[in-house]
Amino acid sequence: MHIDLEAEKKEILRRYRTLLKSIRRKVDIKEKKDIRKAFEIAVDAHKEMRRKSGEPYIYHPIAVAQICVEEIGLGPTAVICGLLHDTVEDTEVTLNDIERQFGIKVARIIDGLTKISEVYDYNTSSVQLENFKKMLLTMSDDVRVILIKLADRLHNMRTLENMKRDKQLKIASETQYLYAPLAHRLGLNSIKTELEDLSLKFTEPEQYDFITQKLKDTEKERKKYITKFCEPLIESLDAAGIKYTIKGRPKSINSINNKIKKQGIPFENIYDIFAVRIIIDNDNTEETTADEKALCWKSYSIVTDHYLPSPDRLRDWVSTPKTNGYESLHTTVMGPDGKWVEVQIRTVRMDEIAEKGYAAHWKYKESNTSENALDNWIAKIRETLENPDSNALEFLDEFKLNLFAEEIFVFTPNGELRRLPHNATALDFAFEIHSRVGVSCIGAKVNSKLVPLSHVLKSGDQVEILTSKKQQPKEDWLKYVVTSKAKNRIREALRDAKKVISDEGKIIFDKKMKALNVKIDGMGIKKILSFYKVGSAIELYYKIAKNSINLNKLKDIIDGDGHIADAHLPKADKPFEQIVSEIRGSTETLVLGDALDKIDYKLSPCCNPIPGDDVFGFITIGEGIKIHRVSCPNAVQLLSNYAYRVVKAKWTSQESIQFLAGMKLEGVDDVGIVNNLTKIISEDLMVNMRSISFDTDDGIFTGKIMVYVHDTAHLDNLITKLMTVNGVHKVIRMDN
Ligand code: MN
Repeated sequence: MHIDLEAEKKEILRRYRTLLKSIRRKVDIKEKKDIRKAFEIAVDAHKEMRRKSGEPYIYHPIAVAQICVEEIGLGPTAVICGLLHDTVEDTEVTLNDIERQFGIKVARIIDGLTKISEVYDYNTSSVQLENFKKMLLTMSDDVRVILIKLADRLHNMRTLENMKRDKQLKIASETQYLYAPLAHRLGLNSIKTELEDLSLKFTEPEQYDFITQKLKDTEKERKKYITKFCEPLIESLDAAGIKYTIKGRPKSINSINNKIKKQGIPFENIYDIFAVRIIIDNDNTEETTADEKALCWKSYSIVTDHYLPSPDRLRDWVSTPKTNGYESLHTTVMGPDGKWVEVQIRTVRMDEIAEKGYAAHWKYKESNTSENALDNWIAKIRETLENPDSNALEFLDEFKLNLFAEEIFVFTPNGELRRLPHNATALDFAFEIHSRVGVSCIGAKVNSKLVPLSHVLKSGDQVEILTSKKQQPKEDWLKYVVTSKAKNRIREALRDAKKVISDEGKIIFDKKMKALNVKIDGMGIKKILSFYKVGSAIELYYKIAKNSINLNKLKDIIDGDGHIADAHLPKADKPFEQIVSEIRGSTETLVLGDALDKIDYKLSPCCNPIPGDDVFGFITIGEGIKIHRVSCPNAVQLLSNYAYRVVKAKWTSQESIQFLAGMKLEGVDDVGIVNNLTKIISEDLMVNMRSISFDTDDGIFTGKIMVYVHDTAHLDNLITKLMTVNGVHKVIRMDN
């Protein structure tokens, strides 16, 4: 390949100038100098490096800085950090260099963006998780770390085409698992949507192409309908003297895909493929928030003058914005031709916050409500992070839980508003008030009615907590709470209580050892732990105090000198790390259905893969390799968190083997429908059925059929045939 270095140099400069031009706010001389310096350092540091596509590496940091400015709305500091973000990790440049040149603030952000370079902790977590935790820790200092990281990820996703398939899967899964929810939580709506769509493009390319094509095919018809729908609204909004823009646009490919999957209906039958948005231009300068609110409701009133709203689909995030800052009024109305249409109403300011999130908050500082909410959220993250005992994986699960959770609003007895995640209980509420209230909670009064502490709260509940000094947190409590704050405090309290008991056990233990004349040194206690198969000394003492360990057994295994001989100890299992590297060393790609392959695997029951499915192998602890579908509900989590345990796998074509697959059916009950279905399956198509079950409720039937098939083509064929049976409305493949 011939590379024209001169032309490349010109192109690098051109991209740099475009970046400078896109910075909208005024840049002072010092900032200008620093940006130039950062650019030169980055160009020099990356000069020998190229991206997988063959392009000069420096295109990437420039693009990341550009995203920070244009799509997130950040300023010069972010540009400097965006340009430098990969230098410390991938080149000779050190953090000290950065600090000397740009000061401590920039250095700390770059540090937050630099990966920890340690080896995997095979048992508990992966480096990926620790890195994520580190990033969040730095975020509580400066939220720009996360924003730049998201820009970095977005550019990597946009250029993922050039990576190998297994890398693509890992990166796309990670994006789906961590970065898209994070963007959502920070209110970066357009970035979140793009990240999700790109993830889908690489994890389920066929489905992605299918929906893209369908959207294209139906575009003309959709535009016609939207125009017809908007016509009367435009007339009335104009007459009311409201300044606004109105537009209809399709929802994201990912959200359409989720609807197809969740509802098990074809593309054509999804009613909310698009939404109509009215953006009110209220000339933000002097208007107060109250006027904005009034304008939104006025527009709502106009919309519902023309179309009847569905009473249970009104969402008011104008009066109480979401924690991520989202403000909007959503309603679903009955449009022409009996079609439901979602209408979103908001002001220009609200729209900008909805699309650009956190950065836009800075611009509209005077609207303080949502900003406080975000600060609260960051404070909560810090709280979780500061708990030293939470291992990275546990932490991440809780973090994600809080990311996704829809919120409820509840009130204290004096009418103070508290936000809690969906499914929060009275006990969560008690810990939300104060940990001391939490640990002594014995029950609650919800809207003046007495309820147990496990009672699940609803939005609008007014909650009074009942406490008792005698109360002690119980192991069971962990099952009743969903907030990480409550979980952490309960674990802490349980540990404290355990400590008191194990202290008693230690006294018994010491006495007994003296009596048996056993010599305890560092090695000795380890041997005793492994003899009794307990994990820690505290655990051992606790069990002694609880009388579940018999110390007299030691009498038989100590030598004359008071030590335990190795011969008496249980044999140690092969370390998991070793098992993983043995498997990975022995095979590049696992060939499924090949009789010659010596490696043992099982088809995972959570997604029942069959030949033709896109699959991967996963090395489990104690159960060998399990095969999952790439579209399995667990796949995203496995691929992103445990990439080192993933083995590539593919099918051989072997007609003789049959695989179990399930289908779910729905339709209108009709005499003889079960007979018709079984006849088609077993007689017409000659497919072996393992089980069939049907339920009827008020004329609607749902059924489950398990059959043996050769591969996906075989199953798809069967599904198509069953769809033609009279009365059947829906047939989908079941994961389990
Ligand atoms: Mn990067």
